[in-house]
Amino acid sequence: MSILVQNATIVTMDAKNSIYHQAAVAISGNKISKIYQEPYPQEKFDTIIDAKGQVLLPGFINVHTHGLGVLLRGRSAAFWGNPARHADIAHFTGPLTADTALLFAQLFLCELLRSGCTTFVDSSDYGDSMAQAVDDGGLRAMIAGTNIKEDNPAMGQEKLQQSKDFIRKWQAKNDRIQPMLHAEAASSCSPALWQELAQLAKDKNIFITTHLAQSTEELALMKEKYGQNCVSYLADCGVINGHFLGVDGIHLTEEDLDLLADRAASLAFNPAANALHGQMPPIAPALSKGIASGLGTDSLSGDMFKALRHALTSWRMREHTADAPQPEEVFPLANSLAAKALGKEKEIGSIEEGKLADCILVDFQAPNLLPLYPDKYQAQLTHFGMASNVQTVIIDGKIIMRNRIIQTIDEKAVMQEAQKLYAAQKGGFSHE
Ligand SMILES: [Zn+2]
Repeated sequence: MSILVQNATIVTMDAKNSIYHQAAVAISGNKISKIYQEPYPQEKFDTIIDAKGQVLLPGFINVHTHGLGVLLRGRSAAFWGNPARHADIAHFTGPLTADTALLFAQLFLCELLRSGCTTFVDSSDYGDSMAQAVDDGGLRAMIAGTNIKEDNPAMGQEKLQQSKDFIRKWQAKNDRIQPMLHAEAASSCSPALWQELAQLAKDKNIFITTHLAQSTEELALMKEKYGQNCVSYLADCGVINGHFLGVDGIHLTEEDLDLLADRAASLAFNPAANALHGQMPPIAPALSKGIASGLGTDSLSGDMFKALRHALTSWRMREHTADAPQPEEVFPLANSLAAKALGKEKEIGSIEEGKLADCILVDFQAPNLLPLYPDKYQAQLTHFGMASNVQTVIIDGKIIMRNRIIQTIDEKAVMQEAQKLYAAQKGGFSHE
């Protein structure tokens, strides 16, 4: 399979921030084989896409999601701030059947594709369903088999076994799917279980993720239980290294950030989700320490344009500045820097020859994106971009969405079935 995208403006997001006008990208198999400036190649391609008026960019990388959180859109989000409704969250997110989870995973993937996301990092108790949806849907993902927790030692071992089974099933099955390990928080597992998880991650060469220092209550619990904060506790368990992705980190201290930086760990920030809780992630402090970081959307939404906008504003609010950062400092958190946070900077995150062909075409002939100051594409998308501007999505050299029609998922059927199923579950989902 070969594709030529021609007449495009290419915002490469490479190290030099190169932008090419009237350019073409040739895709051969699953890789970007060549970038051309006019004249275009004469050889034959299976598919030629005329991208006049459109901008080719690397696909967005969403470094933290709970895709099945779409269920909360119909429940918790509609009543945000009402504690009685928050109690419904557990009720409405589980337990699901594998088929129900697959359906809502597909609904989530449709949202990701429509907003230009090509790679995401997801955790839930339904890793198999999510992996199946990704396998069929054509996206790229790091997926946890289950949320690991240890209310008692037997539960910890059961979750560990589930994770091992998931890794065995999916690690060699599809290059687009990379298993990982996920625990809700540092306090979710004992030191012994964390050590086992660290060893498993090392043996299998996979990532561990967990939410870090999310609230003052969590910090107090860690102090009481272990006499430590989250990062030093995890570091002592051997978890903090180049295969660790910490999430949120609202209350990370200077010391925590230094330790994460020293161990080459990464961070995932969810500025839009944090804002709903009145919180702002420590993006500037983390980047100033050189910590590889990216943006995620957490639950409720998968829209990276929203994440970008919230990253810009929450960064400025937290630092009390009106003019820093510039949008060009924020935009790479959704592609090139995010790839680095996942250890995938040699494969994805920019449009460069030899990299995997994960890219999107964004239509700039849109009222919300004009007028455009010359070459200020990153600023324009950060401030004003919308999911509806994304026209075409190519992942692993395959056209997954073309002219806003998803090729791999029957979107209409998924939406109808998901709403029907949701409406039928008056008391919440349960096993059949
Ligand atoms: Zn989360």
